[in-house]
Amino acid sequence: MSISKKQIGQELLSHLELCRELGVRVSLNPSSSKTKKPRVAKPEKLVAAKPDAREDAAGESEVKKIAIVPSMFDAPTYPIESLEEIRADLGDCQRCKLAPRRHLIVFGSGNPKAELMFVGEAPGSDEDQQGLPFVGRAGQLLTKIIQAMGMTRDEVYISNILKCRPPENRNPEPDEIASCEPFLFRQIAAVRPRVICALGAFGAQTLLRTKEAISRLRGNFYDYRGARLMATYHPAYLLRNPNEKRKVWEDVQKIRDYLRAAHAPK
Ligand code: SF4
Repeated sequence: MSISKKQIGQELLSHLELCRELGVRVSLNPSSSKTKKPRVAKPEKLVAAKPDAREDAAGESEVKKIAIVPSMFDAPTYPIESLEEIRADLGDCQRCKLAPRRHLIVFGSGNPKAELMFVGEAPGSDEDQQGLPFVGRAGQLLTKIIQAMGMTRDEVYISNILKCRPPENRNPEPDEIASCEPFLFRQIAAVRPRVICALGAFGAQTLLRTKEAISRLRGNFYDYRGARLMATYHPAYLLRNPNEKRKVWEDVQKIRDYLRAAHAPK
């Protein structure tokens, strides 16, 4: 199917509009967009945050101040299995108290060999109805963010820590996480992404086993289960706080640059 000049123009306009929304400065000079080598924080070198640690004026923090439990970063020892096998094992899951009220299990979607995997907290109402992750308004914004990175949803893999919607979208509870997160870990082991992007405070804190604020976690890479993990704000948070889009754009640019650097000729 050929694409008309008008369609190309419309797509370019919508891309530029998204870039403007995200606070992206668009340059038509290719030499001005040099790929930077990102900094990777080694979790085992991190030290506990002081109890009275404060964010600086920009909401940024030094990675060395962030408290992380290093043992949680050990590579998983799951057998080699496919996403289909993991989904089959999940079955009509009744392993936690969320099962009776869910409409559909939201397992995950996307490229089973994706280099980039997004992990959110739990399905919302739209996701529960459709059985797919990130399909509501927040999901549409995530799609735009992925496109602004120069990728498509089909290229990445998207999942959540919980596969069933908590009632009234309340926070997941520890017993629910304990029952469900092994399936996420198996998904990570099956997909083997280069980068995991944890979306939102709850997702990032759960994966990193820390209580640090997302404003302090975001913007840094952590070694995590054989991948690099970057935490950033949840798209639903961005819908309520559009001024924070710029920070998410900074975070996902680091991911984009890391992935590009991995493919650069040595
Ligand atoms: S949230 Fe996870 S563990 Fe709980 S019922 Fe759903 S799939 Fe099973």
